Amino acid sequence: MTKFADLNLDPKVLKAIDEAGYESPTPIQAGAIPPALEGKDVLGIAQTGTGKTASFTLPMITMLAKGRARARMPRSLVLAPTRELAAQVAENFDTYTKHLKLTKALLIGGVSFKEQEQLIDRGVDVLIATPGRLLDHFERGKLLLTGVQIMVVDEADRMLDMGFIPDIERIFSLTPFTRQTLFFSATMAPEIERITNTFLSNPTRIEVARQATTSENIEQGVVMFKGSRKDREASEKRRLLRDLIAAEGEALTNAIIFCNRKTDVDITAKSLKKYGMDAAPIHGDLDQSQRMRTLDAFREGTLKLLVASDVAARGLDVPSVSHVFNFDVPSHAEDYVHRIGRTGRAGRKGKTVMICVPRDEKNLADIESLVEKTIPRIDAPGRPATAEEAPEADAPAAAEAKPRRTRTRGSRKTEPKVDAKVDAKTEAPVEAPVAAAPAVVAEAPAQETAAERSDRGSSSRSSRGRGRRDERDDKKVVGMGDHLPSFIALSFEERRAS
Ligand code: AMP
Repeated sequence: MTKFADLNLDPKVLKAIDEAGYESPTPIQAGAIPPALEGKDVLGIAQTGTGKTASFTLPMITMLAKGRARARMPRSLVLAPTRELAAQVAENFDTYTKHLKLTKALLIGGVSFKEQEQLIDRGVDVLIATPGRLLDHFERGKLLLTGVQIMVVDEADRMLDMGFIPDIERIFSLTPFTRQTLFFSATMAPEIERITNTFLSNPTRIEVARQATTSENIEQGVVMFKGSRKDREASEKRRLLRDLIAAEGEALTNAIIFCNRKTDVDITAKSLKKYGMDAAPIHGDLDQSQRMRTLDAFREGTLKLLVASDVAARGLDVPSVSHVFNFDVPSHAEDYVHRIGRTGRAGRKGKTVMICVPRDEKNLADIESLVEKTIPRIDAPGRPATAEEAPEADAPAAAEAKPRRTRTRGSRKTEPKVDAKVDAKTEAPVEAPVAAAPAVVAEAPAQETAAERSDRGSSSRSSRGRGRRDERDDKKVVGMGDHLPSFIALSFEERRAS
């Protein structure tokens, strides 16, 4: 087996690796480090969790240890698709450059241009950036890419998904033709193949098996789930998720819960919190400082459940995630591979459970054909959701509740659905949702009835406030009896419905 000591890395890098606790290089590291150190272009087909970040950072640091940075002309450049991933690459550099004096700058959105420009002005060895932000800096005229000797493109397939390929092509063309390129992608879509053919020169190609899916250390399962009624499916699905989380007991130390849509990320996180679980959302629409805070808390272990979208969690480097839940079946089969790769990292054990509703069965079949195995069907823990279990008991996020219009005098007011306001204390089963569920079921209709009552109450209050003329109008309608003209009946019905 290859040892790090055999790879010709700088002794100070070796020391940092040793302190990080790595015993031996992973296959992508053993494959990519030697050609990279020889100055060759590398095409690495590997996903996160394989140790790919170190496979480019370690040789880069070794090569950059010789020489010095010049003002405004970074010596190397790493492009990453998301801010989080870029920040993680930067952290990797910090870990491995511990015993060296190399400078770096991280160019990502949400951080002031001024601070970043000051760093670039002083000269940096490594520039780590998202493509858009890099080009913004370039266009401000404060950055020259003509000194780039090594350029890394990380997670190129994700760049493709996010529409960054034109930016990448432009950045390639701004760097010297003689640069060395280290290019990483989890998959080789035709467009990625085209880019590598255009910009890489006779690369050494290293392909690492889809470790996460073939790995024995991730236990996989899928629960086939159908809501009792279409309009209850979402809340019943969240209930199922809570049951699945609770069923893991102490084995669950922390988990990432993936949703396909950002709105579901928010709703699911709020719903979990409401039920006393330690959860927070992360997706691209949240502001940068909030995303960083959430990620830091999850990394440090002060946040247990991270509810995430694919892009936000991509490359998330938390070595010990015990569980991954797929609240939805991802619509791109590769995303399943990325998602479950968040657990079972670096040889640890991991578990993943996915919820599949009937309309997602086609996507499930696609995943199974990609990973070339049948994901075991597992039963839902606890009790099955029945029609008696009022979905309103779930009382999810206000975001999900459709605004309800109530007429007040002379104006229209939107109110959230009453069930969204239900106090979690009276309703949510904290810690042990399975056992406490009947209480929720019993309480829910009463909540709804009270809610309905209070709704009606407010409308009668407002009709009282309407004054004499309106009162007369109301009486007129009621008193029409059999002679009620049809158009009045219509508006009367509508008002009742609202
Ligand atoms: P990556 O694929 O770069 O996202 O890395 C996945 C995880 O593996 C990170 O937490 C790294 O710190 C860790 N890692 C990288 N290389 C090694 C190694 N040779 N031995 C053990 N862990 C490693």
